[in-house]
Amino acid sequence: MTLIIDQFPCRSDNFGVLIHDTESGLTAAIDAPEFDPIKHRLAERGWKLDQILVTHHHVDHVEGILPLKQAYGCTVIGPAGEADKIPGLDRTVKEGDVLDFGAYKIEVIDTPGHTLGHISYYIPAAKVAFVADTLFALGCGRVIEGTMPMMWSSLEKLLALPDDTAVYVGHEYTQANARFALTIEPSNPDLVARAGEIDALRADSKSTLPTTIGLEKRTNPFLRVDVPAVRELLGMPDAAAVDVFGEIRTRKDNF
Ligand code: ZN
Ligand code: FE
Repeated sequence: MTLIIDQFPCRSDNFGVLIHDTESGLTAAIDAPEFDPIKHRLAERGWKLDQILVTHHHVDHVEGILPLKQAYGCTVIGPAGEADKIPGLDRTVKEGDVLDFGAYKIEVIDTPGHTLGHISYYIPAAKVAFVADTLFALGCGRVIEGTMPMMWSSLEKLLALPDDTAVYVGHEYTQANARFALTIEPSNPDLVARAGEIDALRADSKSTLPTTIGLEKRTNPFLRVDVPAVRELLGMPDAAAVDVFGEIRTRKDNF
């Protein structure tokens, strides 16, 4: 069994993602940032859209839902906590729900913080997670609707996934995130090396995603709240992890 994952740019800095199970022929879009690029990619691949898996209600993740639904008659699945804010929903899901996708099982993880109902999708058999605006490469989503503890506990859930889990996120923010990350851990050799690789990729207009849980653990400051050098730089040697996270998030908001 094979799951093809196709990621492509949408809007200014969003990603469209299609997943396709070669055995059943099923295709799903992770979010619907924009109709045209998704339609074109489906046509190029010769796939028909069966499902849209929505992560949260922000316009840059849902704007393509209704035109896609009209064009393909696809089923729209999204977070129970934001059902009233997402157009065209056919089915709501929450943590613990498992979706059948051909031979694959897709697990729903509640990851609130960026928005109150934000969910992520995890496919253990394919070692892949779709986390939208919860975790970014070298960053995390802005805590817009939720609280710092809420966002931190969502990130802790993602940290618990296996290190070799491929992580697809909502936005290409990596280069700017790297500049901020280096202010928190200027002498982390893994981060310094990664920042160089990111600059090279972006100079070539290439995507820096997907990432992996293991790579983020080694380089993402928002996940490195227990590292002594990070705590020392922030002057928070004995603070709770959630408070160190909150301080880093606040610094990034003002960066
Ligand atoms: Zn968002
Ligand atoms: Fe977004």
